[in-house]
Amino acid sequence: MRRSVLQPWIGAETGCDSREALDRWQLARLREAVAYAKANSPFYREHLREVRPEDIVGRDSLSRIPFTTADQLRAGPQLWLCCGAAQVERIVTLKTSGTTSAPKRVFFRREDQERTVDFFAHGMGELVCPGDRVLILMPGKQPGSVGDLLERGLARAGVQAVQGGPVADIAACYGLLRASGCSCVVGIPAQVLGLAEYRTLLPPSERARLKSVLLSADAAHPALKRRVGELMGCEVFDHFGMTEMGFGVAVECSAHQGCHIRENHILVEVVDPETGAPLPDGQTGELVFTTLDRRAMPVLRYRTGDMGLLPAGPCPCGSFIRRMVPRGGRLRDRGRLWALDGVLLDCPGVVDYALEEGDGLSLTLLGVRPPELEEARRRLKQAGIEPVSLTSRAITGFSGTGMQKRTLSERSD
Ligand SMILES: [Zn+2]
Repeated sequence: MRRSVLQPWIGAETGCDSREALDRWQLARLREAVAYAKANSPFYREHLREVRPEDIVGRDSLSRIPFTTADQLRAGPQLWLCCGAAQVERIVTLKTSGTTSAPKRVFFRREDQERTVDFFAHGMGELVCPGDRVLILMPGKQPGSVGDLLERGLARAGVQAVQGGPVADIAACYGLLRASGCSCVVGIPAQVLGLAEYRTLLPPSERARLKSVLLSADAAHPALKRRVGELMGCEVFDHFGMTEMGFGVAVECSAHQGCHIRENHILVEVVDPETGAPLPDGQTGELVFTTLDRRAMPVLRYRTGDMGLLPAGPCPCGSFIRRMVPRGGRLRDRGRLWALDGVLLDCPGVVDYALEEGDGLSLTLLGVRPPELEEARRRLKQAGIEPVSLTSRAITGFSGTGMQKRTLSERSD
């Protein structure tokens, strides 16, 4: 097993060769980040009034820094800015589906984007080698979009990118995959599963051969990962990303037991979603993220509403770079979507599903071929889930960008 490719990169950037040294390094960067945010942003000047950087002396003292939330970000994103508008290279507006609340806006300076590009350049080393070609099935048309930054990172690593965009038409996308000769696909979990299912409908001579797949943008349930791997016949890696964090956060190594965090840029905590108290390693809670060196808009102790855990102990790959395991499901779902993912995405033929909650749960299973209803019904019952309505239908593509994390109220078709 190969050690995480992030370790030599993070080691070289930070000068740290041990867990203890990296912990000390992160705390020093955090003190600087707090001082920088207080000095330059109207929001943080008020928000951090009681916080003195010199009081942050250990991981235990992180809770001296008050949390930030998505609501605070929506209320006045420009107040978070630490620079003049002229220095902002890119603004990303995040619409929240199914709610009437104002969109979140996130600002990046050139050097903020540069750090993401650098992470992609190194992190993709888990999946590809110089000379390889990668099909990117994420938004990539605009400069500074996730697909564009990934292409720039890959170019730096000697890897060619083909921009496919999110999968609107499965057959057309599969045609592009074959014609482009790509050996790696980066995409949104349900969309990549759709491609993988489509592949099995073709005669063997027309099946694309991949060596790796990277799933991103939404937490991929282990059941979905396993099916993609079986149907595509290749190794499947997880990536955890979030727009507020500059898209890239953590990437899986070949041990496949969690995603290594880009700890030279981001500090990750897990807290009790009710009390906000820090949780010990190994316990599932709410993921809280802090940027250590963001210039345009530092994000300090940001409550993501996403569930996850930090595995205890070192990774079997031998790296001391901390890992995170996304547990999917938004906080308010209480893990219900994750549980449904575990049952439904494991059923033959299901690539995604739409759900509605009114007088009970109504489920529509979506597949490249119509999914097998009776098998799904049996497995749902086994898991204690009895929908009032269960139907299925075949789809030929996906609408929207698929970049938003799914929520219970949202229909995914
Ligand atoms: Zn590892």
